[in-house]
Amino acid sequence: MQNRLDAAAMSKDKSARIATPQPVRGTQDMLGDFADRFQHVVDRFDRVRRLYGYKRVEVPVIEPTAVFARSLGETTDVVSKEMYSFEDRGGESVTLRPEFTAGIARAYITNGWQQYAPLKVATHGPLFRYERPQKGRYRQFHQLDAEVLGSDSPLADAELLVFADQLLRELGIAEGVTLTLNTLGDAASRDAWRAALVAHFEGHKGDLSEDSLERLDKNPLRILDSKDPRDRPVADSAPDIDAYLTSEAQDFFGAVTAGLDAAGVAWERNARLVRGLDYYRHTAFEFVTDRLGAQGTVLGGGRYDGLIEALGGPPTAAVGWAAGIERLAMLVADDAVDNRLDLVIAVEDDGLLPYAMKTLAAMRGKGLATEIVATGSPRKRFDKAGKIPARALIAIGSRDGQSYTNIRGDSELTITISAIIRAL
Ligand code: ATP
Ligand code: MG
Repeated sequence: MQNRLDAAAMSKDKSARIATPQPVRGTQDMLGDFADRFQHVVDRFDRVRRLYGYKRVEVPVIEPTAVFARSLGETTDVVSKEMYSFEDRGGESVTLRPEFTAGIARAYITNGWQQYAPLKVATHGPLFRYERPQKGRYRQFHQLDAEVLGSDSPLADAELLVFADQLLRELGIAEGVTLTLNTLGDAASRDAWRAALVAHFEGHKGDLSEDSLERLDKNPLRILDSKDPRDRPVADSAPDIDAYLTSEAQDFFGAVTAGLDAAGVAWERNARLVRGLDYYRHTAFEFVTDRLGAQGTVLGGGRYDGLIEALGGPPTAAVGWAAGIERLAMLVADDAVDNRLDLVIAVEDDGLLPYAMKTLAAMRGKGLATEIVATGSPRKRFDKAGKIPARALIAIGSRDGQSYTNIRGDSELTITISAIIRAL
């Protein structure tokens, strides 16, 4: 229909252009500086996850809706309002992944990855949530993700946190970022604490926001980290979990924090940090900053020992974290990313183009990032090449029938370049 209308408009006015489809709201295109920072974050993540022995895992962008509905809980914002779900042509309800953990847990079960337990995996890629688009909040965004499946050891929690800390330090954004940590205990601790919280909130029902009244029925722990100022006094005066922790749960938390202390990772207790769903256990954490206004969490995660069972798998202890790549990229300093090429070649004589092309191929073949300037007025090519950020520059030309190759730049690199040229 649209096409026919466009065609009719075109036939009246030859100069009329076809209307360009606009991008989907809340998606973004990236080029230049931001794309470079984004890639820098991904590159560092990939380097650091190898240092910690995390295998690369890939899971589909699309999953049966039940994978997320069951694991994220029907009452969470993500499931109730934010999922991109639709019926495919076969009539199956599918969803574009709003997070990684559920898909990885599904893969763990359906592929029988129990045989590799404990399995340490890392991935990154696009996620989709139907949110109100605003600065720093998109409908397609990207995360880094790290998970350890099939380990009930507190050493796994500690290692994940040390990994996260090293990543933030290598990205140069650890300054002003604080690791905040809490424990939700084991099932027994959590149930006892939950009952105490419900009693406390029931006693202050009149002071809670509407959202929190609804949470009281479905997900009372979430009232603790409510951002609504009306809820804060009641949430702040609620009992901590500490009095309800079993000695096993205390030991577990003690082992996690001892691991952090041994590795020299600073942390702060935040007794108000919770994850609402029943399958969360023990460790919950967030790395937070005050540099991004309200969107202060740069990396978050915790232990989810009950999730794989909730998806129909065998009881499996697991822990993981995720971090928004866009948010990390915004924090990366302007000068953190070195985009320079190794070399630019300016061809000042078209007769030498074959030789220049051979040189170009040799440089790239030897692993040097190289660009060539061989178009436009030959006299202007050297200046044009000089404007491209690079560590070295070669001019290939001729004077009085004699060809020359002039090299300038970084001294160690020019030695390498000269050797490659001699071997041509
Ligand atoms: P928020 O409270 O900001 O909505 P959340 O609890 O929904 O966060 P998680 O599901 O824990 O966030 O996702 C972890 C990280 O993913 C966030 O800290 C953020 O960096 C990033 N993130 C989440 N939603 C978006 C979005 N819509 N656009 C960009 N990044 C996002
Ligand atoms: Mg959200």
